Amino acid sequence: MINDLWYKNAVIYCLSVETFMDANGDGVGDFQGLLRRLDYLHGLGVTAIWLMPFQPSPGKDDGYDVADYYGVDPRFGTLGDFVEFTHGAKQRGIRVLIDLVVNHTSDQHPWFQDARKSPDSPYRDWYVWSKKKPTNANEGMVFPGVQKTTWTRDEAAGEYYFHRFYEFQPDLNTANPRVQAEILKIMGFWIQLGVSGFRMDALPFVIGTKGADVKKPVEQYDMLRTFREFLQWRQGDSVILAEANVLPETDMDYFGHDGDRMQMMFNFQVNQHLFYALAAADTGPLVEAMEATKPRPATAQWGLFLRNHDELDLGRLKPQQREKVFAEFGPDKSMQLYDRGIRRRLAPMLDGDKRRLELAYSLMFTLPGTPVLRYGDELGMGDDLNLPERNCARTPMQWSTEPHGGFTKSSKPVSPVISGGAYGFERVNAAEQRRDPESMLNWTERVIRMRKEMPEIGWGDFTVLDTGDPAVLALRYDWRNNSVVVIHNLDGKPHEVTFGLGLDDTAPALINVLSDDHSQPNDKGEHCLLLDAYAYRWYRVGGLDYLLKRSEA
Ligand code: BGC
Repeated sequence: MINDLWYKNAVIYCLSVETFMDANGDGVGDFQGLLRRLDYLHGLGVTAIWLMPFQPSPGKDDGYDVADYYGVDPRFGTLGDFVEFTHGAKQRGIRVLIDLVVNHTSDQHPWFQDARKSPDSPYRDWYVWSKKKPTNANEGMVFPGVQKTTWTRDEAAGEYYFHRFYEFQPDLNTANPRVQAEILKIMGFWIQLGVSGFRMDALPFVIGTKGADVKKPVEQYDMLRTFREFLQWRQGDSVILAEANVLPETDMDYFGHDGDRMQMMFNFQVNQHLFYALAAADTGPLVEAMEATKPRPATAQWGLFLRNHDELDLGRLKPQQREKVFAEFGPDKSMQLYDRGIRRRLAPMLDGDKRRLELAYSLMFTLPGTPVLRYGDELGMGDDLNLPERNCARTPMQWSTEPHGGFTKSSKPVSPVISGGAYGFERVNAAEQRRDPESMLNWTERVIRMRKEMPEIGWGDFTVLDTGDPAVLALRYDWRNNSVVVIHNLDGKPHEVTFGLGLDDTAPALINVLSDDHSQPNDKGEHCLLLDAYAYRWYRVGGLDYLLKRSEA
């Protein structure tokens, strides 16, 4: 297959314009600020930026309550600034993905405002209504403990409207062909302004049936093909990265058995089991999750992530596994959220232990898929548990030791910059880490460079090598006659392992690409490694001689 599929070997960096860099000194991040920081991102080596919602919005769910799909929130700049940004990214070879939040709108959106006025409004049927309160109104809340219901009575409309999320986020009636046509129009608009695709928010809900009589939503998968076809017709190399926390048996329904639906999905199965593996030093369930999510069309790709802007959802783990992760990484109630997850950033979860952080990110960069980093991860930024719900992990980027971490010149940043303590901007910031060769920032830059030089991981198939030790994960990737092997010891103790590479020809050496620590096979062709606590190794299989021999064979 020609390797035009850029997303197969990409490194994605997710950020919120609001909290990244404020150029005009009003306390709120903006596109001008982001533009100035593009060289930083280019230097880090990321190949795509995913922007969280930046459209006009009352901001009650951090922009995931859109009030106009065709604009830029004036707090962040103008459409002109947006195009300057996409142009600046393109000049540096960085692609831009943006959030597409079309399961619902804000209740302030003019469509909803019009819809509620009269049953004759042309927008009435763009939303989901019921004359009576549906019997299941108290079921299916996404934010349990904070959200009371999924049906709220609107006085102006005199009816109940459906909202899978908060009550200020009325669901769009996505079965309505006019709504579907509008979704395509929104995609077409942003494609024209320079983006390479969309992170599609809450996809299972977008395509699920909605209505007062729906007891269990049924996914309308055909819709996915409609989105894909439109997008590829308008711009062949654009993609959709789906947010769909679903079970492995439906993965192929989302990717499409012929690879004709979503190009990418976040791998929530691997994400949750990876946290269990880190908590318990037991990679068994992680390997099962990897095997379960292995089948996918050749053109499809997983998005691999550790923490994102939401809580770490542990809902797919078995109860004892979930308890283990809570106990290790979020024992206090204040660290937990929505009865299912942990709201902290990764660095405090791992006690700021650089060995464990490197191990976790090394796994993120080498498990099957395309890595998706969150801004500040490259510095080991922390969280502020005094902030409500998910806001604790959405604090401004820490650039320097200047006031407010150099994020803004204003005395009132949009959200407080973390200050003081182990994770305050005084100790954790980009300016100082740039100068320190041993910093997290420079480590991340190095592994990003190496990850891009290992397309076998993004493109190839993986084989789990038997180490006989559940604490040690060994993977081999093969692509185009080349192989790489990555090893991780998830335990806080040293482990010695012996394993074969499972290749049928002569036993090659393993060339370490991050240090001088290479490995020669023993006389049985096996490799015997003594791994320190939390050690990781990235190897290329064989030296030049071996590779030449293999490509001739
Ligand atoms: C986003 C959340 C948001 C929700 C509603 C999600 O899946 O990731 O941050 O609150 O969609 O749009």
